[in-house]
Amino acid sequence: MEHVHHDVVVIGAGLAGLRAATDLVAAGRDVLVLEARDRVGGRVWTHRFANGQYAERGAEFIDTDHRDVIALVDELGLGLADVTSGHDPSRRLLDVGGRATPFALHHSLAGELRRWEAALDELAGSVDPDDPVSGPDSARLDEAPLSALVAGLDLGLMARVAIGREIRTEFMLGPDEISQLFAGWMAALHRRSPGGREAYRTAGGNDQLATLLAAPIRDRIRLGAPVDLLDPDAGRIVLTDGETIVAEHIVNTAPLPVLGRMWFDMPYELARVGYGIGGKISVQTTRRIWHDSGLDGAVDTERAWGQTWDGSDSQPGDTGVLTVLLSSHDGAAIASIDETVQRVVDEADRFFPGAKAMAGERIRTDWTNDPYSLGCYATFGPGQLLDAWPFLHRAYGRMVLAGEHTDGFCGFMEGALRSGRRAARDIS
Ligand SMILES: Cc1cc2nc3c(=O)[nH]c(=O)nc-3n(C[C@H](O)[C@H](O)[C@H](O)COP(=O)(O)OP(=O)(O)OC[C@H]3O[C@@H](n4cnc5c(N)ncnc54)[C@H](O)[C@@H]3O)c2cc1C
Repeated sequence: MEHVHHDVVVIGAGLAGLRAATDLVAAGRDVLVLEARDRVGGRVWTHRFANGQYAERGAEFIDTDHRDVIALVDELGLGLADVTSGHDPSRRLLDVGGRATPFALHHSLAGELRRWEAALDELAGSVDPDDPVSGPDSARLDEAPLSALVAGLDLGLMARVAIGREIRTEFMLGPDEISQLFAGWMAALHRRSPGGREAYRTAGGNDQLATLLAAPIRDRIRLGAPVDLLDPDAGRIVLTDGETIVAEHIVNTAPLPVLGRMWFDMPYELARVGYGIGGKISVQTTRRIWHDSGLDGAVDTERAWGQTWDGSDSQPGDTGVLTVLLSSHDGAAIASIDETVQRVVDEADRFFPGAKAMAGERIRTDWTNDPYSLGCYATFGPGQLLDAWPFLHRAYGRMVLAGEHTDGFCGFMEGALRSGRRAARDIS
């Protein structure tokens, strides 16, 4: 049978694949993008409510040091909207033992959180953000779990809850499943540029980054085209319907757990990389009822509901969107169940009395069981980063890897864009 041949096939139309494809098309290459879903964007996915208000089902926040994302927002003629929810300790609740009180009322907490920040500063100081694997301490740090750093600080209960939740929110796994080298690397990258974390969202929805990036190359993107199998040496790609495509070069952006299903010879060092797990629930409310009690919608709880914030804080109108991040093992388990949506609404009523009566449309997103992500993002566990490192950035026959998991800004849109740009350069 005659197979279709292409110069470059990009697998996945998330931000990494779209960036790589756009750069390659600009360089005059013949590119085909194969995307399993019926939409572009991958883990960037915006929901729009009936009145035009929106919520991010996946990637939400843009940090001030996410230069490629900010440049793309600009390039596409979009704007940045400021994030405020969660930034003021007097308007953000900490929920422990069934009592939710503002962070600012826990007087000893500020000092303990500063000690945690200082410990992270010290860890970041021992990792070179451009070369995390070659430092004198890298082997020791990679073997050590982040939980050992937390335990060494001898913190009180409130601080342990707050820090444990912060870690689960960032990595979507608990501290014993995170390598100190990995956490230190991320911290070193963030500390290199001054400025705030979670400072912005794309005004109008992050999905525009994908749809507008895809627009000029729309005729080169095939949606609903899941790759079933591939042979990197021969450049052969088989779709689930049996169609075979042969490529001179493959840029593969599938998340590692998904990659392992299409590439039987995937190295063990990549197959064992940990992935953060969980999902999100967003509930539209007729009013931002949290404002009634001087709060901003942000809650950190020790319960499996995890963390909430006002996902609409920069959007006009009376209605609000309460977003709940369900993280790590307990969060992932309940994110997969429909009944959780009603439990989250009930729980919101405890924090913000009256919220239940105001709850309207609700959406639930379970990234762990999504067959095209099988998790939220790469979170390297103890002993995994050093082992995986040489395998992330090399070529396999005709294939190179891209995607957030291959970049320092791992777990962020920034990492996806940077990796796509690098992959396009590597095969040019
Ligand atoms: C809950 C959650 C919250 C997040 N919060 C933030 C945040 O606040 N800020 C931030 O910057 N980032 C955040 N992220 C991370 C961000 O979404 C990702 O880092 C980024 O979108 C990854 O882009 P990518 O192109 O590497 O991968 P993806 O977007 O996953 O793209 C890969 C593409 O490959 C496709 N694919 C998979 N399998 C196949 C197959 N067999 N055949 C063909 N195509 C296939 C997928 O459908 C997908 O479109 C969050 C992610 C999650 C899940």
